[in-house]
Amino acid sequence: MTSTPVTLGIDLGTTGVKAVALDEGGRTVAQASRTYPLLTPYPGWTEQRPEDWVAAALDALKDLAQQLRDARALPLALGLSGQMHGAVFLGAGGEVLRPALLWNDQRTGKQVQAIEVRIPRTDLIARTGNRAVTGFQLPKVLWLRDEEPEVFARLAHVLLPKDYLGFVLTGEMRTEPSDASGVGALNLACKAWDREVLQALELSPRLFPEVVNSWDVVGRLKAELSAYTELPAGLPVVAGGGDNAAAGIALGLTSDRPRVGSVSLGTSGVLFAPLAQPTPDPQGRVHLFAHADGGYNLLGVTLACAGALQWLHDKLAPDTSFDLLLSEAAKVPDGAQGVTFLPYLAGERSPHMNPELRGAWTGLALAHGRGHLTRALLEGTALALADTYEVMRPLSSVNTFLATGGGARSDFWLGLVAGALDVQVERSTHEPGAADGAALLAMPSAGIYRDLAEVMQALRPAGTPVRPLEITKAREQHSSTFARLYGAVQPEPQLGTAPVQADVRA
Ligand code: ADP
Repeated sequence: MTSTPVTLGIDLGTTGVKAVALDEGGRTVAQASRTYPLLTPYPGWTEQRPEDWVAAALDALKDLAQQLRDARALPLALGLSGQMHGAVFLGAGGEVLRPALLWNDQRTGKQVQAIEVRIPRTDLIARTGNRAVTGFQLPKVLWLRDEEPEVFARLAHVLLPKDYLGFVLTGEMRTEPSDASGVGALNLACKAWDREVLQALELSPRLFPEVVNSWDVVGRLKAELSAYTELPAGLPVVAGGGDNAAAGIALGLTSDRPRVGSVSLGTSGVLFAPLAQPTPDPQGRVHLFAHADGGYNLLGVTLACAGALQWLHDKLAPDTSFDLLLSEAAKVPDGAQGVTFLPYLAGERSPHMNPELRGAWTGLALAHGRGHLTRALLEGTALALADTYEVMRPLSSVNTFLATGGGARSDFWLGLVAGALDVQVERSTHEPGAADGAALLAMPSAGIYRDLAEVMQALRPAGTPVRPLEITKAREQHSSTFARLYGAVQPEPQLGTAPVQADVRA
């Protein structure tokens, strides 16, 4: 009996690692996951031990290899994916110098200010696609120089999380544009480290690895790790993509089809819009990254989406199902009879970039009940996504968003989102993740498809259209309440002058 060719994908997430094996039809042949601890030594600090990532990843790969043997499947290549923006600090021999700083670490406020003093915000956005952001890797390197000079003195290489895993697996240090563009120092036009940005910060470009294509082979699995995992010796390891880009690839989002983007109603809300050209928002209110297909993508993140519904559930209705909460809300008319919810429970990323913003229910009267509170909350989260989309709209040509995430289980919520965005929203027929995208990125090098375009053509998931719901009244209330309360909640920082301290979601 011949064995089924498969490619593997691995996603190094914040809570754990997930590994999958896909056959040429994109079907999952095997999967395995492992968790690891998150370290929070001080308020605002988030770290992980790269050694924990490696142990968990090798364990998951060993599990996968066992399943593949049982399924008579033959792994041909392994693609990498993972949490973006983290900093793994290595010495000259590739040894880990300290725990890695993660995407949601907030300790670099001072370093973000320092970047903004040395490089005008508009210039940094034009070069790298983004303003200086606390979560990005670049200010973390400056933090190390400022706060742990004895470690910085031994620093020879800085790698992103998935690229560190690639280094351990193959002995080669490489990165690729989708993850590298989340460092904060990649020149997007040429997809190379911006020497002038680094020079302005007195950092050597030699600290950062060579940038190759996302679908390129970065090296081959080391013999001793092949022996440990029982994966084939010399298995090609493919550069892969940052988790958002890899998830985009898994949904079939490519820059040669810039009309289809995605909206994810997860803990936070994420709008992903592929682009052929690197056109940033001049004010940096949404992120611009390199996509893993060779193009680019805009990324807008609202911090409170399904997380806000989870909060309402946990604090006010812990014994009630999500379905019941949603059905109560669906009985209330557009605008929740005057109740408005500003969803900024955790500050806001796009488009306000203000971590100090806070949430509010307004317009409450005795006649209102739980259904009104829930409806207003759902409308508020949908309209926060629409505020972000307003910034993206003139820069992108998306006319259809594929919807994913826990909130997309509800037709009603998705209908509100479709109404708020005022473009076609389709529910994705299946919900592949970043590990799947990494496995797809490995298919060309495995010879299963000629190139990534052919992979996408064959394996792109379909969508079923969602009926948009009326949200006109809610939209008016959202704008007027926001305008009225924003100053009362927290004054807006002056765009173009004040440093940004919003974090970024990997
Ligand atoms: P994460 O971003 O953590 O991966 P998920 O995409 O899994 O989150 O979404 C989980 C969220 O989905 C829950 O917090 C809840 O708000 C929402 N949710 C769960 N069940 C439903 C449902 N039946 N209808 C709408 N939303 C739901």
